[in-house]
Amino acid sequence: QTIGQFFDDACRRFAGRDALIVRHQGIRWRYAELQEQVERLACGLRRLGLQTGERIGIWSQNNSEWLLMQFATAKAGLVLVNINPAYRRSELEYALNKVDCRALVLAPSFKSSDYLAMVNDLAPELAASRPGELQAAKLPALRWVIRMGEEATAGMLNFPALLAEPTAEERQTLAAIGEALQFDDAINIQFTSGTTGSPKGATLTHHNILNNGFFVGEAMRLTEHDRLCIPVPLYHCFGMVLGVLACLTHGAAMVFPSEAFEPLAVLQTVAEEKCTALHGVPTMFIAVLDHPRFAEFDLSALRTGIMAGSPCPISVMERVVAQMHMAEVTIAYGMTETSPVSFQSYTDTPVEKKVSTVGRIHPHVEVKIVDVEGRIVPRGETGELLTRGYSVMLGYWGDEEKTREAIDAAGWMHTGDLAVLDADGYCNIVGRVKDMVIRGGENIYPREIEEFLYRHPKVQDVQVVGVPDSKYGEELCAWIRLRDGESCTVEEIRAFCDGQIAHYKIPRYIEFVDAFPMTITGKIQKFMMRQQMKDKLG
Ligand code: ATP
Ligand code: MG
Repeated sequence: QTIGQFFDDACRRFAGRDALIVRHQGIRWRYAELQEQVERLACGLRRLGLQTGERIGIWSQNNSEWLLMQFATAKAGLVLVNINPAYRRSELEYALNKVDCRALVLAPSFKSSDYLAMVNDLAPELAASRPGELQAAKLPALRWVIRMGEEATAGMLNFPALLAEPTAEERQTLAAIGEALQFDDAINIQFTSGTTGSPKGATLTHHNILNNGFFVGEAMRLTEHDRLCIPVPLYHCFGMVLGVLACLTHGAAMVFPSEAFEPLAVLQTVAEEKCTALHGVPTMFIAVLDHPRFAEFDLSALRTGIMAGSPCPISVMERVVAQMHMAEVTIAYGMTETSPVSFQSYTDTPVEKKVSTVGRIHPHVEVKIVDVEGRIVPRGETGELLTRGYSVMLGYWGDEEKTREAIDAAGWMHTGDLAVLDADGYCNIVGRVKDMVIRGGENIYPREIEEFLYRHPKVQDVQVVGVPDSKYGEELCAWIRLRDGESCTVEEIRAFCDGQIAHYKIPRYIEFVDAFPMTITGKIQKFMMRQQMKDKLG
């Protein structure tokens, strides 16, 4: 089935149940109401003249418009392009041109970002053009700019205009368009985080993300009685697949507490809406637990949710279980290119496994862990994780070469992650292949040395990378952020390592820094560190 067909069936089946609650917009729609809004928007988008397969970008934080766009584009046969709300002008230009977007839907402003001003800067032709007739030198494919809200802006169309009541004929045309779509058509382009280089646009199909959403919901044992609080961003697969599609496939209610994550809004929403599930990255759970008003809220309806994105300290997991009542919380591993999840724990996985591993393989996904020659390594040994199955993307949009590097002829997706499988099939992610250092023939995993250096009392945070070396091939370099007010010497760090770890694992270069290069989503970019050290060492 396509997402459009599945969506209509689900809306009929769960018609009277809560579908969407958007607290900051005061919206409450049951599935039947959501279905009508989506149908109107799908007709509205086709009324603009957009054709099957054309790309339409959305640049906004979480709101009802975002959700309507996710399903309306699916029904109208358009390809939705998720644009990170933290992007700035040049990143927007890159994303829109990379996939030739015909239209862009945007929120007028958010916190310090004035999206209208940035779009006008990039396309000064906009103000003087008629809606739908934009010809911008820097954005050659873009014709429509659609802004959320009622206010009129030169050259742009208002989003509410697309929600006008369609004619019977328009509805029939839409149904015919839906019939012609295939489940393996592209439906969505999501950009990777850019941790290891420029973000790549992963092209995903109906089949990819709908099924992944279903299996994610199964692992949490979601039903139509569940109410999932979604403070994670919709532009990312965490929100749109693990949140929205997991709910749709199980008839659960989606509850958006705020435009972007705010711990107090999460506490109020969970308590007042009696949410049974909550998603977040570990830092979000920490912010909620540490909120000064935490004790005021009744969170006893909570049962499950997903914690993903980075490893979770055991102390945090224990508090989530004990203080937030989330004994059935699950954890997950995935990547944009695989829709995204391929490993997840179950609701009854023991807590130790929930913190020391990323869970077990998802149904209908194959995995293998291989050495540099592509041979499968024995259980318990480290190698590159490869995955295969329904969830692997079509490819990187407009980049056949990168696609061929990522997905081999037999259909295996090379994740670029280093992993170990234990005897029970639980997987542990130990780093990235690109970050592995080979010094004088010895494989060194930076994570191991980072974990060792963390134990030094003056060290706040540490990152280890390899830098080229004429004698050993590569040498280790550690970047250390010290705790506030501390000072430390290279010799102190060396002395700390001496006799504790093998001599070849002691970093040759040790640098004290104030910050690490990071993506806008907060991931550390080791490739930038390597480059900076290379430049420095000459
Ligand atoms: P790019 O591909 O552009 O360099 P990226 O790989 O960080 O960026 P994403 O697709 O957003 O972009 O992130 C997927 C990666 O995040 C995985 O390949 C893995 O390295 C890491 N990851 C995801 N989940 C977990 C987890 N539970 N534990 C540890 N690492 C994880
Ligand atoms: Mg990646």
